[in-house]
Amino acid sequence: MSEKNIILTGDRPTGRLHLGHYVGSLKRRVELQNSGKFDAINILIADDQALTDNADNPGKIRDNVIQVVLDYLSVGIDPAKCTICVQSALPALHALTFYYMNLVSTARLSRNPTVKAEIQMRGFADEGLPAGFFAYPVSQTADITAFDANIVPVGEDQLPMIEQAHEIVEKFNRIYGETLVMPKAVIPENETQRRLPGVDGKAKMSKSLGNCIYLSDDAKTVKKQVNGKMFTDPQHLQISDPGHTEGNVVFTYLDALCTDEHFGRYLPDYANLEEMKAHYRRGGLGDGTCKKFLINILEETLQPIRAERAKWEADIDAVYDILREGTARAVETTNETLARVRRAMRINYFDDRSIVKEWEALLKK
Ligand code: ATP
Ligand code: MG
Repeated sequence: MSEKNIILTGDRPTGRLHLGHYVGSLKRRVELQNSGKFDAINILIADDQALTDNADNPGKIRDNVIQVVLDYLSVGIDPAKCTICVQSALPALHALTFYYMNLVSTARLSRNPTVKAEIQMRGFADEGLPAGFFAYPVSQTADITAFDANIVPVGEDQLPMIEQAHEIVEKFNRIYGETLVMPKAVIPENETQRRLPGVDGKAKMSKSLGNCIYLSDDAKTVKKQVNGKMFTDPQHLQISDPGHTEGNVVFTYLDALCTDEHFGRYLPDYANLEEMKAHYRRGGLGDGTCKKFLINILEETLQPIRAERAKWEADIDAVYDILREGTARAVETTNETLARVRRAMRINYFDDRSIVKEWEALLKK
């Protein structure tokens, strides 16, 4: 087993990536990548996992594989420093999932709070729950352990998945001997970045809820989302009325995104967010001013991402090669782990012929 610092992280190709991914995960990945402190950084496009709740629409998943890679490259994920790979092309993950399924009870799986919420959201409670969807936390454990990852940077909704992974790793190592690396979740320090709400104020910005600002949205669309849809304080009718900043999506986004430097550039009336919030609470600060400030910050964040995306969009051949080469490397890494797992489980019949001697001795007894 390795003592290395290895990262595994990833996304479901169910849509283009959004601001929630950016603040909750992507930004951190780029920082980790540039820190030079890691032995390997693996980024998995979880198309098999996406199929667990999109079995009737594989075309959607196929289309979004390229969108997600483009989003990665556009935020600054560097294929020279990270391995970007596609889940379905890594057969070791399927085998590991199959073995890990035996180490977790259906009762335990039904207690996963994120999966429970997702089942409700997708209407599976009434329509019937696909077994694959129900068990996806097990396949996520396969993803993590196949890369020997000890560090898993994720948003808050993924914490129950890491807890599940801990239990499976602990049980596997107990039964079969020390084989798998115990992973650790890394979530953003800033609370709003852990789970960015949707523009509609719903608990989470999510591709499946259609309440997103996408990293690839143009300036006009972003402005429309903020001015047209973004939830503020319904009791703040006149500019002079005192307002609430908690539960006010504009301020939540500012919490997640703005720095003191942004005030210098776009809103020099205040030195920092605390001063701005205090004015809003007192009354006298209008939603229009707040939204305009947010739009400026969003533009400053998104404009370079859009420009980088446009460059890669013009060379999809190169993007394809990045994905193909990353996936080929990942096949090797994950196959090595599977071989180690099979040895530990004593189902490595064809590694060599030593089992022939073992069987002969058994039959002579
Ligand atoms: P889906 O609706 O298909 O599940 P999603 O928007 O939840 O899509 P995922 O691909 O499931 O996105 O999540 C990828 C990563 O991004 C995970 O680490 C997750 O925690 C993080 N993430 C997703 N949405 C948010 C959000 N709103 N705020 C912070 N992090 C998020
Ligand atoms: Mg999700």
